Amino acid sequence: MKPLEKLRSKYTGCMLGAAIGDALGKQNEGLGRKDILENGYVTDYGKARPGCPGEKLREGQYTDDTEQMIVLAQSLIDCNGFDAMDFAEKIAKWGVEAQNDPARKKLVGPSSSAAISRLNSGILWKESGSEIPSCGSAMRVAPIGLFYNNMDEIESNAALSSIPTHNSKGAIAGAVAVAVAVRRALCERDCIEIVKDAAGRASKYDSGLAKKIELSFEKKDTEPDKVFEELGTSYLVYDTVPCAFYCFSRHFGAPEKAITEAVNAGGDTDSIACMTGALCGALHGIDVFPEKWLKGLENRKMIEHLSSAILRKSENI
Ligand SMILES: [Mg+2]
Repeated sequence: MKPLEKLRSKYTGCMLGAAIGDALGKQNEGLGRKDILENGYVTDYGKARPGCPGEKLREGQYTDDTEQMIVLAQSLIDCNGFDAMDFAEKIAKWGVEAQNDPARKKLVGPSSSAAISRLNSGILWKESGSEIPSCGSAMRVAPIGLFYNNMDEIESNAALSSIPTHNSKGAIAGAVAVAVAVRRALCERDCIEIVKDAAGRASKYDSGLAKKIELSFEKKDTEPDKVFEELGTSYLVYDTVPCAFYCFSRHFGAPEKAITEAVNAGGDTDSIACMTGALCGALHGIDVFPEKWLKGLENRKMIEHLSSAILRKSENI
């Protein structure tokens, strides 16, 4: 494969990987690990179980994680870079649309909901972000790692992209870690280098989260039951981001396994799998995903189109 084709495959793989992980993971969102292992280890698309936030979504349909990632990607393309005001406007508009849709209204997390209300009441993006350290800005941030080539720009724009909705140090650090890891995964073959760089950049914002990301790598040879219990799988960034790094590191050469591991982790499975999928796709490219996952994914063409547009912009900055 020629270098540009390989890069295109990785850009597309990153965004599709996020959407695939999200669409698979939504089936288990909010369920306990034990319950998942006893009643239905998920390896393919299906409906979410009754009571899950995504119970009204179709098979292969993704959740708010991917929807917010798409909003961010579109904003980067429209503005030729990250523009906080444009992104905040777009996310506020998206939020109202999602909250008015009976199938999607339960998907929007606590930080995003609060921020959307504030933005729509006229509060400026610098003041609208929630203090809850949830993972909403980390789960959507991958396009920043694709758009910018320079690590300092990735770090600063990832941090900025968190502020309109997630203005806690943990959430900002989580967004920085994932964006940096996405960029490193595009050209790095050594897992420890990717994790070290992500944790190093995140440590400027939240040393606790950075340490937990490093721990997730150190635990990569420990069995998942123990690790998920130790790390926690709640919607908080301190749980979801380390869990995604664990799944990615444990199955570094086997992306299908990494994503499946995340999908069945328990807790915030759609977000853990969304971030795991983004990292796997950036590392391996689109061809590593099973055809059934690519075929069954909703809006595949639209996501491919966005990732190609980001690649074109990225080459010109
Ligand atoms: Mg979700």
